[in-house]
Amino acid sequence: MKISEMFKTGKPVLSFEVFPPKKTSGVESITAAVDELAELKPAYISVTYGAGGNTANTFTRDIAAHIKNDCGIEAMAHITCVNNSKEEVLTVMDSFTEAGIENILALRGDINPNVPPKTDFSHASDMITFIRSHSKYDNIGISGACYPEGHTEAESLTEDIINLREKVNAGAEELISQLFFDNAFFYDFREKAKIAGINIPISAGIMPVTSKSQIERMVTMCGASLPQKFVRMVTKYESRPDALIDAGIAYAADQIADLLSSGVDGIHLYTMNNPYVARKIVDMIGKLL
Ligand code: FAD
Repeated sequence: MKISEMFKTGKPVLSFEVFPPKKTSGVESITAAVDELAELKPAYISVTYGAGGNTANTFTRDIAAHIKNDCGIEAMAHITCVNNSKEEVLTVMDSFTEAGIENILALRGDINPNVPPKTDFSHASDMITFIRSHSKYDNIGISGACYPEGHTEAESLTEDIINLREKVNAGAEELISQLFFDNAFFYDFREKAKIAGINIPISAGIMPVTSKSQIERMVTMCGASLPQKFVRMVTKYESRPDALIDAGIAYAADQIADLLSSGVDGIHLYTMNNPYVARKIVDMIGKLL
């Protein structure tokens, strides 16, 4: 089922995101966590795509196929074009479709200063146009990423939203946002996207904090702003890891409750492969969906 269809019921769509294990561990090292997440019955689970190489592609495909075929939950496989040529994108797409995967998140991927990017595609929208030009993928749902605070490379949020419109025009049917800790950014972005004529569902990406180092890593990568309330929480509990996890869960649940009250299309939970955290959040907000 195409994920964009799920939004047609008018009810908010809850989805999870997981990431494949490191090359040295097998897929089976995260199967138990994925199975536990699937038991929480999200509408779909997405699987991230590593920075290139066959192992990364195979792991993403195998985990997504397990979610779809063994757990009976709709799966979305991420795919990036920064390290893939046109031919390689077709190879990956064919391997996804042969495994029964019906949805992808089409991304450019982060540019690694030590790895020269491949040059067939400059932006995610170029890859979406390319995939959409092949009728054999007509039944594949395509989603794209969006950035409530603007993408780090864009000069302004307005410029980023104008570029985002290209992604939608190319054929993205749903958008998933980068994580944010201040809902005001999401509401402002959603309003501006609407004014720009972007009318497809936008799911809000929420990451419950589970450790100080995780937040530092994420913020360095994506540049999310940290509101005072959030900084106070991390400062207060950083030396008590269990307390920080509970505080992080409460913070994320509060963000989600506010988003749901404000009519958000969907919540995309960055689970960090942690079923405990996802279960707690679902317990707290499940009835609000
Ligand atoms: P693009 O949409 O190509 O945008 C990148 C930049 O180019 C932006 O600044 C944009 O404004 C600009 N731009 C876009 N189109 C145009 C245009 N036509 N003309 C001029 N400028 C343009 N990374 C991974 O490696 N693997 C993953 O699995 C992964 N999953 C992610 C999931 C989500 C929900 C999100 C939000 C991000 C994910 N990322 C992942 C990170 C993502 O790859 C990076 O944020 C990357 O830097 C941008 O990817 P994009 O698809 O948004 O790129």
